[in-house]
Amino acid sequence: MTETRPFVEIRHAKKSYGSLEVLKDISLTVDRGEIVAIIGPSGSGKSTLLRAINDLDPLTGGEVILDGTQVNKALPHRQYEKHINQMRQQIGMVFQHFNLFPHLTVRDNVVMAPKLLKGISEDAAQKLAEEQLAHVGMLERIDYYPSQLSGGQKQRVAIARALAMKPKLMLFDEATSALDPELVEEVNQVMKTLAQEHMTMIIVTHEMEFAADVCDRVIFMDGGVVVEEGPPSIVFQNPTQPRTRDFLRKHL
Ligand code: ADP
Ligand code: MG
Repeated sequence: MTETRPFVEIRHAKKSYGSLEVLKDISLTVDRGEIVAIIGPSGSGKSTLLRAINDLDPLTGGEVILDGTQVNKALPHRQYEKHINQMRQQIGMVFQHFNLFPHLTVRDNVVMAPKLLKGISEDAAQKLAEEQLAHVGMLERIDYYPSQLSGGQKQRVAIARALAMKPKLMLFDEATSALDPELVEEVNQVMKTLAQEHMTMIIVTHEMEFAADVCDRVIFMDGGVVVEEGPPSIVFQNPTQPRTRDFLRKHL
């Protein structure tokens, strides 16, 4: 069966902080299995847009639709809580600063959400955690605490933790920006593996080489708008917009 609707759809997304318009009517779609990079200067609204997808940063206007369901639905408080928890279980998010629970071991960091939110058994949750940690090459460190890990290892655990929820969509917000350069590759490698497994991913990154290598499409944002988008071969080698050219001149 062919899919007629996009997997992720952002329609006329607007976001203001007081008089500051951070997102100015952004519309975009992402297909199932597509890997999309969002690039652009600091302050252009990339994080705000990403966080709007799971309604962590609610939009002031517009809609986010995931697999046919509106994420940012206006509902009475109780219903909204239930709805958003269900939606967020389907959306994995990885941040720049890992956000692991420091007082929990790697194992417990990964086990916690599936156990609490999905109500699966202890045994099943343990098995799931072991599988996901093996997948990111961190099974040997399962009984370590985050403080005993390198930044790259922490980030791989954070990815395993997100994957343990079996999300439909993964969002990465500069997942490698806080890492020492020699640790970037091990995290990129995990993201490449996910790409090969056809995980749908939206990746905010300042690593143009990674975006060119892994992503199907690149979206260049500036000043709260999508200035240009297309396959990496076009956006990076033949950008049509002066703002894109200017940005790439400084970052390629
Ligand atoms: P990027 O991720 O592209 O660097 P952000 O989405 O973080 O950009 O920020 C876009 C703009 O929104 C910036 O001007 C930033 O200062 C502003 N901004 C972000 N969060 C807030 C907030 N909570 N309150 C006020 N302004 C904010
Ligand atoms: Mg950001």
